[in-house]
Amino acid sequence: MRPEEAYTRLLEFQRETAYLASLGALAAWDQRTMIPKKGHAHRAMQFAALARLLHQRRTDPRIGEWLAALEGSPLVQDPHADEAVNVREWKRAYEKALRIPERLAVELAQATSEAETAWEEARPKDDWKGFLPYLKRVLALKKEEAEALGYEKEPYDALLDEYEPGMRAEELKPLFAELREGLAALLDRILGSARRPDTSILHRHFPKEKQEAFAKELLLALGYDLEAGRLDPTAHPFEISIGPGDVRLTTRYYEDFFNAGIFGTLHEMGHGLYEQGLPPEHWGTPRGEAVSLGVHESQSRTWENLVGRSFGFWRRFYPRAQAYFPELLDVSLEAFHFAINAVEPSLIRVEADEVTYNLHILIRFELELALFRNELAPEDLPLAWGERYRAYLGVAPRDYRDGVMQDVHWSGGLLGYFPTYTLGNVYAAQFFKKAEEALGPLEEGFAQGEFGAFLDWSRRNIHREGSRFRPKALVERVTGEPPSARYLLDYLNRKFSALYGF
Ligand code: ZN
Repeated sequence: MRPEEAYTRLLEFQRETAYLASLGALAAWDQRTMIPKKGHAHRAMQFAALARLLHQRRTDPRIGEWLAALEGSPLVQDPHADEAVNVREWKRAYEKALRIPERLAVELAQATSEAETAWEEARPKDDWKGFLPYLKRVLALKKEEAEALGYEKEPYDALLDEYEPGMRAEELKPLFAELREGLAALLDRILGSARRPDTSILHRHFPKEKQEAFAKELLLALGYDLEAGRLDPTAHPFEISIGPGDVRLTTRYYEDFFNAGIFGTLHEMGHGLYEQGLPPEHWGTPRGEAVSLGVHESQSRTWENLVGRSFGFWRRFYPRAQAYFPELLDVSLEAFHFAINAVEPSLIRVEADEVTYNLHILIRFELELALFRNELAPEDLPLAWGERYRAYLGVAPRDYRDGVMQDVHWSGGLLGYFPTYTLGNVYAAQFFKKAEEALGPLEEGFAQGEFGAFLDWSRRNIHREGSRFRPKALVERVTGEPPSARYLLDYLNRKFSALYGF
């Protein structure tokens, strides 16, 4: 078969698979927002049927034949041409899919689904002993999966590579060590400061409908296309893309806490802006897909924190917030801005501020690595967890529920995933610095309601590239150097020394 013909067939086949997979995304969105309680059993069967179909397609031997016909062809000579990018990623996905025996895939799907249910039941009861066998099974299967996928240095890398292609534990270690040292020093200075924000103002009454209206006003002002997406309430906020023109956001509103609804929306909007900025003509191919979870998270954290928690942003929007919530009329802009940036070591990652957040992630990473190196037994996780929390954050959980059992990730088999959260923060600060070098200081523009220049910069440099480059290569291309902890530490030190006065 001629390479051109092989490519055309491959492209058609993979696009068709992408359409089918996007029906799964639509069903997943529905399951987490709208589905009636009695619809879950049927939905599970729909997902199972779709998963079987997709697995068949992803391991279809014709993919191997088409890829073979493209080997060494001029069509894929230039590694950054659209065709070459797609063939590179399709080959990678095909080889990975073939390496996982069907028995393991089925067992993993079962074990993680059972472990998630067990976690949901065990967590409120603080029943670590009841949950542990489920976790052990998932861990054993994930180790088996890592062996099946293959790696150069250590098993953990095989899992990391699923979420952040090309990233290795060896590379993360120095990056995270630098971060840990810098964050610990900053946290010490913050805790030593006599200045303290009044966070009680964030716990006044904020009616749900007002929050929703304000959230949508913000989405429009920041450049999110609401005609190509939606914002709906849910229990655990997420962003999900159905296709070009259909990028959906969810958030949750607490009437007695300002941050959850608004910053949750800005976070998911960052993910959504990335998806809305991907090249639609390449939809359904790697060239039109987000490059990694780390880069994805960089976009959400940028809009949530670097933009959304900046003083300039609230110079523009605080009067609007006060119009929606007259409860805030007696609170100054400065006091509000300090409150939404309060730093407080805590037990729960998802509630953590910008300074302590990455310390939570560093702990997860170290524990995961120890588990995969067989240096730590799952039974000993709670002890190791407590020790690290005391050392990194000066707090330790009294129970399992707010400790080792707080996140659903491990039950769902998401091991090697946590590091992408911190990589997101690292990339975000590094990208932002570069954008300011190109566009000048951005905050003054934010204060004038000007967000388009920054969004355009992100579109041109990051979104439109899809998966053309590997994440690390993208960071190097955009910023001129490999991922570095320096920019995040600089940003945090600058911001929090001003707020806390040192
Ligand atoms: Zn996110």
